[in-house]
Amino acid sequence: MRITIVGAGIVGLATAHALLDRGHKVTLVDPGDDQARPTNGNAGWIAHTDIMPLASPKVWRNLPQWLMDPLGPLTIRPTYLPALAPWLIRFVLASSPARIKTSIAAIRSINAEALPAWQKRLSSLGLRDRLRENGILSVWRSHSAFLHAGDIIDQQRSFGIVAEVLEPEDVARLEPALRNVEMGLLYPDACHVSDPADLAADLMRLARERGAEVIQGRVVALKAKEETIHVRADGASGEVVSDRVVVAAGIWSRALARTLGDRIPLDTERGYNATYPKDSLGLNRPIMFEGEGFVTTPLDTGDRIGGAVEFGGIKAAPNHERTSAMIARLKRFLPHFDADQPAKRWMGFRPSIPDSLPVIGPAGKDRRIVYAFGHGHHGLTQAAITSQLVADLIDERPSQIDLSLFSAQRF
Ligand SMILES: Cc1cc2nc3c(=O)[nH]c(=O)nc-3n(C[C@H](O)[C@H](O)[C@H](O)COP(=O)(O)OP(=O)(O)OC[C@H]3O[C@@H](n4cnc5c(N)ncnc54)[C@H](O)[C@@H]3O)c2cc1C
Repeated sequence: MRITIVGAGIVGLATAHALLDRGHKVTLVDPGDDQARPTNGNAGWIAHTDIMPLASPKVWRNLPQWLMDPLGPLTIRPTYLPALAPWLIRFVLASSPARIKTSIAAIRSINAEALPAWQKRLSSLGLRDRLRENGILSVWRSHSAFLHAGDIIDQQRSFGIVAEVLEPEDVARLEPALRNVEMGLLYPDACHVSDPADLAADLMRLARERGAEVIQGRVVALKAKEETIHVRADGASGEVVSDRVVVAAGIWSRALARTLGDRIPLDTERGYNATYPKDSLGLNRPIMFEGEGFVTTPLDTGDRIGGAVEFGGIKAAPNHERTSAMIARLKRFLPHFDADQPAKRWMGFRPSIPDSLPVIGPAGKDRRIVYAFGHGHHGLTQAAITSQLVADLIDERPSQIDLSLFSAQRF
């Protein structure tokens, strides 16, 4: 079939390869200039061990304290509150114990396949060396805060996820540069990629080499006719005639879905980071600073500190005081770190759904159009498995996992 993919972020790119594997003719359409696309600036974690939705007890426990601090781990810009209200109502509804249990099971079902899907994809493309399989470490500043995580750890273990509790001396052995840590938890099976932007560039290069056509343009309309779907892009890019279409345009998918009659509660959790020269932090593996709202990753291209959740829509300018606040908090753990050296600062748009589950499934009015967006904090992690699920939907093969909870019609 002739299949057009709208959006060449990590989800669109992985999907291109899954469809090329099946012998389809693939066209990718992307403007190629969205600086805030999270595909490029994310933390690079394959965090398949993370099974908690944002609407979790952990977030609700910390929320009052976080909201008091305008530069804290989670903020809502007051001017954006009216626009965010429908999303927030759904977020509150997704926070009941029963709904959280459902979300956890669904996240686990997709995350359990996430790393094998990436390993298979990267091996088949000769990119297996892009994975850094050195585990991921969570750290706590106090033993009492660590005890709060007990339930989550129990749930992870009940799913077979390996989580090793570390005393301070064990943490010091693994990460001698860290200070002020009372407890740690090592996920030996989690991993990260060498650099997320480089990985996306490699996937794009190889998609072209495998025969995908790439059109630079922003899709402005999708018109379904009886036999074909017409994808119209702006500027000189014109119209692409297709048999199937995949919408994988991250946060920008909301407007496209709307034109197809689907109202998806998709909003953005804006995230921030700073990337310092390689080895500036002196850390050996990715670290989650629990309760602090940021993580660090030793990428091949530099040491990245990033995180924060800011609800503020896609139009407001970045507020890099938020990045400075994360760096100041990191200094408590790494007093030696020279935070004044030059660093590249960035802000990007996580495409987020209130129940923390992506939308993977057909559009309401036309099954020939398949959605693949809304992966929130897990878009890199889940991109490869999402691509397989999308290819199965398009080829009308049975799905590896129950997709009913990921449906666009669940709202
Ligand atoms: C600070 C931060 C850290 C993160 N860390 C991690 C992590 O460690 N691990 C993890 O798994 N996830 C992480 N994420 C989340 C992850 O980056 C995202 O979920 C993921 O990148 C989403 O990918 P995507 O392809 O759906 O969307 P995007 O990256 O937004 O790509 C969408 C593409 O669609 C294009 N597009 C937009 N509109 C149109 C249109 N009309 N026509 C054609 N094309 C269009 C855009 O230009 C873009 O190229 C992080 C996010 C942030 C912000």
